[in-house]
Amino acid sequence: MGLIPYKNEVYLDWSDEENVSAMNAALKDVEGQLGASYPLIIGGKRIETDGEILSLDPANPSRVVGKLAATTEREADMALDVAGKAFESWSRTLPEARARIMMRAAAIMRRRKFEFLAWEVFEGGKPWNEADAQVAEAIDFLEYYARQMLRLKDGVEIYAVPGEESRYFYQPMGIGVIVAPWNFPTAILTGMSAAALVAGNTVILKPSEFTSVVGAKLMEVYEEAGVPDGVVNFLPGYGSDIGDYLVGDARTRFISFTGSMKTGLRINELAAKQVENQRWVKRVIAEMGGKDAMIIDDTADLESAAADIVKSAYGYSGQKCSAASRAILHTDVYDEVLAKVLEQAGALKIASPSEAGANVNIGPVISEPQFEKVSDYIDIGKGEADRVLGDDPGDPGKGYFITPTVFETEGDSRIAQEEIFGPVLSIIRSQDFDDALKIANSTPYGLTGGVYSKNRDHLEQARHELRAGNVYFNRTITGALVGVQPFGGFGMSGTDSKAGGPDYLPLHMLARTVVEKF
Ligand code: NAP
Repeated sequence: MGLIPYKNEVYLDWSDEENVSAMNAALKDVEGQLGASYPLIIGGKRIETDGEILSLDPANPSRVVGKLAATTEREADMALDVAGKAFESWSRTLPEARARIMMRAAAIMRRRKFEFLAWEVFEGGKPWNEADAQVAEAIDFLEYYARQMLRLKDGVEIYAVPGEESRYFYQPMGIGVIVAPWNFPTAILTGMSAAALVAGNTVILKPSEFTSVVGAKLMEVYEEAGVPDGVVNFLPGYGSDIGDYLVGDARTRFISFTGSMKTGLRINELAAKQVENQRWVKRVIAEMGGKDAMIIDDTADLESAAADIVKSAYGYSGQKCSAASRAILHTDVYDEVLAKVLEQAGALKIASPSEAGANVNIGPVISEPQFEKVSDYIDIGKGEADRVLGDDPGDPGKGYFITPTVFETEGDSRIAQEEIFGPVLSIIRSQDFDDALKIANSTPYGLTGGVYSKNRDHLEQARHELRAGNVYFNRTITGALVGVQPFGGFGMSGTDSKAGGPDYLPLHMLARTVVEKF
C-alpha cells in the first residue's frame, strides 16, 4: 500500500485568527445541537431504552449537552450476539481493508476537527488547547494503528529447521468490550477501539456516562468510514448497571479498559472467573490511575522546572492520569521553586472554555461527584498539611470550578499518596536525590514521572530506578505523543500495555505458530 509515512497531527495555533473564528463558529453550531437524544446502536440499528443518561456541561450544569439511551442487560445481550455474528466476516476481512477504513475515519475526524473540539469543550469542559491535543491524538491513533496492522499482517520473522517451514502470525481474537473514562473522551475511546478493530475484532463501545455524546460522535465517524454494521456497537450506559454483565459474559473475549484503579481491579477479578460455556481465558488490558511525581534536584534549571510543574499539574485541571500531583524539591532549591510555582499557578485563568475563548487555562472539573471528591481531598489536605494556594471550592451549581491548589506536605500524607484527579499539587521536600527517588517511588502507582536535573548521574539513576512506565527528563510529564512516547504504566497503574507503541496491537490478537514439514 502506498502511504505517506506516519507523522503526528499538528496542533492548532490559537494566535491564528482563522482558527479562532473556525472554533467560535463550531461552538455556535454545536450549541444549537445541545440537548439532542442519542440512541444505542447495535448491528446498525438505532435502539431506544427506558433509561436515560443526561450529559451536562460541567461549566454550566443546568445545560444539557445530550440525552443518551441507557443500556440494560437486555441490550447488552443483544449486542454480544450481534458482535459475535459480525466477527465471522470482519475477522476474515483483509487487514489492508480494515486499515483503510481506519485511515478514512482519521480523515473524517480531521475534516470534523473543530466540531469535535466544540463537543469536547461543552461536554468535557476542556480548554481549547487541551481539546485540540486530544482530537489530534485520536487521529494519530487511527493512522498509527492502521500502519502497525500493515506491518504485522504477514506475521513476524522467525527461524526454521532444515526441511520445514515455520510461520508466526497473528489472528483476531473475538469480541472486545471497550470501557473508556471521561478525561480523554475522544482520544482514549478512539485509540482503544481502533486498535481492537484494525486487528480484526468486533467491539462494544462503552463510553463514560459523563462524555457519551462524544462517544456518539465517534460512532458517527466509524459508520461514515464504512465499518460494517455490528462490528462496532455503541452502548452508552452506567458502568455500575452493565459493566459486570459485559465483562462477565462468556462471549466476551477481551476487555480493554481505561479508568480508575478500583474499577480496573474489579474488571480484572471478574474477568478471571470462568463462567458456563466460556472457552478462553479472557484477556484484560487495563490502564489505571497515577500519582505522578516530578523531582527537581539542586542542579536544575529552576525557571523551566517551575513552568513545567505548573503545566503538568494543572493542564485540564489536573484530570490526567499523567498529571504531576507531587513535586519533590531538593531542600536547597525548595523555596525558590515553590515561589515560582505559586506565582505561575496563581496567575492561571479560570473560566468556562465555551464562553471565555482560547486563553482559558483552567475549566471546570468534570462532574458533581468529581467536584465533591476533590473538595473532600482539599479538606483532608487542610487537616494534614499547609495550603499555600487555592480557595475553598464554591457553589457547584455555578459550574464545577476549583482553583489551582498547592499544599506543602510530607510524602506519606494522604494527599501525597492517593489519586485526587483535580487541580491539587503536593509539594514535598527532599534531602538528596536518593531521598527524592524514595519519595517518588513510595506509592503503589507507576504511571509517569519526571526529573529536572543537569546531573548526568542523577538522570541515569532515575532512568532505571524511577518507578514509572513513562519517565521524562527536563520537560513536562503529560501529553504523550502517539508513536513517539508509547504510553502506559505498571504497578497499580495498569498492565503496561503502552498505547501508541509497537507492542500494543499484538495485545488484541492471538499469535499462531504453524510448521509444515516438506
Ligand atoms: P472509572 O470511574 O473507573 O470509570 C471508567 C469507566 O469504567 C467508565 O466508562 C465507567 O462507567 C466504567 N465502569 C464503572 N464501573 C464499571 C464496572 N463495574 N465494570 C465495567 N466498567 C465500569 O474512571 P473515570 O473516573 O472515568 O476516569 C478517571 C480514572 O481514569 C483516573 O483514575 C485516571 O487516572 C484513569 N485514567 C488512566 C489512564 C491511563 O492511561 N493509565 C488514562 C486516562 C484515565 P461510568 O462512567 O458509567 O461509571
